[in-house]
Amino acid sequence: MIMGAGLVGSLLSAYLKKHGYDVTIYERRPDMRVDRISAGRSINLALSDRGWRGLEGVGLADAVRKVAIPMHGRMIHNLDGSLTFQPYGKEGQAIYSVSRGGLNCVMMDEAERLGAKIEFNQKCKNIDFNNNSVVLENNDGKEVTVTADLIFGADGAFSAVRHDMMFTDRFNYSQQYLEHGYKELSIKPNSDSTHKLEKNALHIWPRGGYMLIALPNLDGSFTCTLFFPFKGSPSFEELDSPAKVTAFFKEVFPDALELMPHLEEEYFENPTSSLVIVRCYPWTINNSIMLIGDAAHAIVPFYGQGMNAGFEDCVDLEKLMVKHDNNWDEIMPEYQNIRKPAGDAIADLAVMNFYEMRDLVGHPEFLLRKKIEGMFYEKHPNKWIPLYSMVTFSDIPYHNALAEGQKQDKIMKQVMSMPGIEEKWDSKEVEDLILQMLS
Ligand SMILES: Cc1cc2nc3c(=O)[nH]c(=O)nc-3n(C[C@H](O)[C@H](O)[C@H](O)COP(=O)(O)OP(=O)(O)OC[C@H]3O[C@@H](n4cnc5c(N)ncnc54)[C@H](O)[C@@H]3O)c2cc1C
Repeated sequence: MIMGAGLVGSLLSAYLKKHGYDVTIYERRPDMRVDRISAGRSINLALSDRGWRGLEGVGLADAVRKVAIPMHGRMIHNLDGSLTFQPYGKEGQAIYSVSRGGLNCVMMDEAERLGAKIEFNQKCKNIDFNNNSVVLENNDGKEVTVTADLIFGADGAFSAVRHDMMFTDRFNYSQQYLEHGYKELSIKPNSDSTHKLEKNALHIWPRGGYMLIALPNLDGSFTCTLFFPFKGSPSFEELDSPAKVTAFFKEVFPDALELMPHLEEEYFENPTSSLVIVRCYPWTINNSIMLIGDAAHAIVPFYGQGMNAGFEDCVDLEKLMVKHDNNWDEIMPEYQNIRKPAGDAIADLAVMNFYEMRDLVGHPEFLLRKKIEGMFYEKHPNKWIPLYSMVTFSDIPYHNALAEGQKQDKIMKQVMSMPGIEEKWDSKEVEDLILQMLS
């Protein structure tokens, strides 16, 4: 059985059904397909290669492709209103904007079509690790106990399964909140349902210390997210009146403000949410209970990889099910051995990308560095893949990508310190220096 019919729990159920298991998912919320309100706010997510591979493994990619909008690069909105477009990868490569609620509905439909049962309004309260049983509580407070050979905790960043694992011997756990939180805002469509900004881009207003981003939706709107400090100046705490919010946006996001006539209502109606990083280990108990997705590795959203990493958990798990012929005594230890370093690495990468997005993407030096890396990648694709591409457009394990990225960083620091680099960035001298340092 699986706790949580979120993105990862639903996908996992499809993989388990594919391999002939009886699967029941217990989900705390009501069925969001019936009660759209429970689908939550209009969050959209960036889906990239690792996520697509997860969907392809159970034949779900085509259905999702129909509702996904390709974003070929970042559109940087500078303070003076000028725009800079930075492609994410090579020609044709893109990340995809998908509605979180919409995706979850498609995946639950598919899980049920494959024969998984989903029981809604059933909250996992606690687990008995010796008997593989779970106490569930429904909306009326009625409790039942259910047992299963295998229990998967796919119940998200505040996992109840993980909570109980914390009371087992030598379970390591850490939780770290960022000093920044986020608030969702929106840009409505034009009257003919077209987009008010370039549709096929992820828009960023980097302002050093904080930023606004916008991802396109199918109905012509954009979901915007303001990542902003909770306290200090400027901060959520400081912007405590409609007039202050508008004045602030006028000063730092003037072009966005023009497209956001509902800013003041949305700012005060929508909650301010926090951002948490959770690390823990082990991820399995008795080779029969296992954490997956955010329950095992909750990360901050700045690399757009949380869901993608959870989907990759499912892909790697399936490989091990095949490799070990469904022997869970072998699958579970190997699963946590390979996925834990990946989870730790993407947690670090996500924080690093926050600094890159909010502080660096607008700087000429950063742009020059990207240009040099792009030039070298083009000439020597076997010797250098930019970090963003390794994370987003490959299946290189996250920890290998992080290690390679750190090596590249050292090289690029030396390259960027070359006198006159602005003029000779695409010269043979620069290319030879990188080649020499790589060898
Ligand atoms: C602002 C923001 C932006 C993001 N952007 C991206 C992005 O662009 N790309 C990306 O890949 N990822 C992104 N993420 C991360 C992504 O949302 C998560 O990684 C992903 O949702 C994890 O899926 P999950 O199934 O593990 O957990 P969840 O989606 O949280 O699902 C957990 C499920 O378990 C249920 N549940 C919880 N407790 C219980 C219980 N006690 N009993 C039974 N059921 C329970 C919940 O109701 C829920 O349905 C973003 C996250 C945030 C906050």
